Amino acid sequence: ESSLPLPASPMTPHDSLKLELGDRSYNILIGTDLIKNAGDLISPVLKQPRVVVVTDENVAPLYLPTLQQSLSAAGISHTEIILHAGEQTKSLSYLEGVIDALLDQKIERGTSLIALGGGVIGDLTGFAAAIALRGIDFIQIPTTLLSQVDSSVGGKTGINTRYGKNLIGSFHQPKMVLADITSLESLPTREVLAGYAEVVKYGLINDVSFFDWLEINGQALCNGDRTLRQSAVLKSCRAKAAIVSEDEREEGVRALLNLGHTFGHALEAETGYGDTLLHGEAVAVGATLAHELSAATRLCPMEDARRVKEHYRAVGLPASLADVTGVDWRAEALISHMGSDKKVKDGRLTFILTRGIGQAFVTSNVALKDVRTTLVAAIST
Ligand code: NAD
Ligand code: MG
Repeated sequence: ESSLPLPASPMTPHDSLKLELGDRSYNILIGTDLIKNAGDLISPVLKQPRVVVVTDENVAPLYLPTLQQSLSAAGISHTEIILHAGEQTKSLSYLEGVIDALLDQKIERGTSLIALGGGVIGDLTGFAAAIALRGIDFIQIPTTLLSQVDSSVGGKTGINTRYGKNLIGSFHQPKMVLADITSLESLPTREVLAGYAEVVKYGLINDVSFFDWLEINGQALCNGDRTLRQSAVLKSCRAKAAIVSEDEREEGVRALLNLGHTFGHALEAETGYGDTLLHGEAVAVGATLAHELSAATRLCPMEDARRVKEHYRAVGLPASLADVTGVDWRAEALISHMGSDKKVKDGRLTFILTRGIGQAFVTSNVALKDVRTTLVAAIST
């Protein structure tokens, strides 16, 4: 009779990359079995075998049991905090609730938090980790496409206030990011597309060959192809990691990641940060507008602006104000929202403009009349 232990089920290979930030460097793993193996994967970065998982009510029933099982199997003790889903959760009152729960459980300096969910959970949990006991470690397990390609990487954490989004926060890097692309399979299509808008953004910033690849593969990727999703998440995380390594605190190149966001934030402010227009949808429209503004001021070929618009529309994203129906768009209202954007510097608007797909640059040299003309055109086409 053999008494050999059963072999552990083999893990499918995953991609991995390192975000280089000196002693705050961390690994980003992208693959299909990562939640199932999270316990073993995170063990090496834990100061003590104890974590608190923060998640939301939509994600908990889907992925929390698998995560709990893998933590237990790895000998990591764990408790959970399950919050309401939605942007309202990124608030001072929920932050207070999380901090109270952590202190109530008598967490120690070596206890780590795990953010299991989308960008809302990631931003809130990261900020709680930044301030609890003057700073504890946390790990990101992003479960939306947007959080896998954007918010889980780079260490921006924070909450919203009545004065605007993300106005309270901190730079606090995670110790590890586990992007399990199978978790995207339960995500509503509209959320997948919203995340895809940010994927396209990386091509638009500095990688025209990635944009070319997305023109060919974007549709299948959005429809669920795992191999394409894994490639796109890897490519996006690599692009973001490179920029963050160079400029963690957005004093320079990191601003390029805001391509489409000056316009986008104005659109979100006008529609109330809700269901009318998701952030990623606003970015799709905003990135197209940035190209149209660049084309109108003869910085960028008209043809490139057309390609961007067509690609967003081809996958089912809005690419123009005219695509977002049921809103009475007015150029002046949007311009006044831009004036209260977080990125305003000495009263001047900062835009990311472009010389063509993959050639974005930061400028505050933009004439308001050109912005107005671009907006007016987009309201009707
Ligand atoms: P989200 O966290 O609200 O998730 C979207 C919805 O999907 C929620 O209802 C959530 O419960 C649900 N969900 C999550 N994972 C799921 C899954 N696997 N299956 C089914 N449903 C699932 O939104 P988001 O788009 O992930 O993130 C948006 C937030 O991210 C915003 O607050 C934004 O400000 C922030 N953000 C932060 C950064 C950063 O650098 N920190 C960057 C971009 C965006
Ligand atoms: Mg964004």
